[in-house]
Amino acid sequence: MLISLTIKEAYEFDHLVKRQDDFFLTSCCCPVWINMVERNYPELFNHMSPSVSPMIAAGRFLKRLYPGAKVVFISPCTAKKAEAKDPRQADAIDFVITYQELKEVFTVLELEPGQLPEDDKDHASFAGRLYARTGGVSLSVKTAVNRIAPDRLINLRARKVDGVKACKEILDKLKKGERIEANFIEGMGCEGGCVGGPKTNIDKDKAREIVNEYSEESLIMTPMDNLNIIRILRELGYDDFSDIYEEEELLKLLSREKVGN
Ligand code: SF4
Repeated sequence: MLISLTIKEAYEFDHLVKRQDDFFLTSCCCPVWINMVERNYPELFNHMSPSVSPMIAAGRFLKRLYPGAKVVFISPCTAKKAEAKDPRQADAIDFVITYQELKEVFTVLELEPGQLPEDDKDHASFAGRLYARTGGVSLSVKTAVNRIAPDRLINLRARKVDGVKACKEILDKLKKGERIEANFIEGMGCEGGCVGGPKTNIDKDKAREIVNEYSEESLIMTPMDNLNIIRILRELGYDDFSDIYEEEELLKLLSREKVGN
């Protein structure tokens, strides 16, 4: 669901950033960043993407496609546990476990995932796979903006910040009205992005390297060429990417408010 969010954020950016001094805050995938803006910088929150995180989007889509399914989200992030219980979006995810917890399960069951056969489906695009590290969201959304609005006069100029200190610094600047020479601000609570999450099993720099290699292996270059997303949208009755931004039901699935199952 990264990709449908990428496309939605591309439409949001195209809609919201019309003048040189307009700016757009994301990434919607990081609850630490979202909560920081919502609680401590409420005057900036109307610049924040109204989209849910990929975790919530994936849960809602899965439950829509497979009624009665239980959804487990696995990540290096403890903040995701609280995000899944947020009353506005508690309809999406049943359980959140961390990589460290999953490793314990594998150890107890004597499972070696690296020895198991590879699933050869090409799930995500080059840009979508980069979401796990800082800069991935910016690259992915920029690719989509260039595709949906190639004639835009104001280009997407990204600024990436990671770690709580850097996030606060940029938000303080924005609050004071200082110019930052960017109109798309990607914030991630952990240094390096999710590869630096608190419950990861491997070194952050090594994880970043693996994420980059994994991205380069993708045969799908842009979010708009992801056949998996096209298929899922068709199964839900939609056939145009603009439906992600225009159709009420899809907007509800991808926005921060509780939806019925
Ligand atoms: S950057 Fe850190 S806090 Fe934010 S979603 Fe990733 S792991 Fe969680």
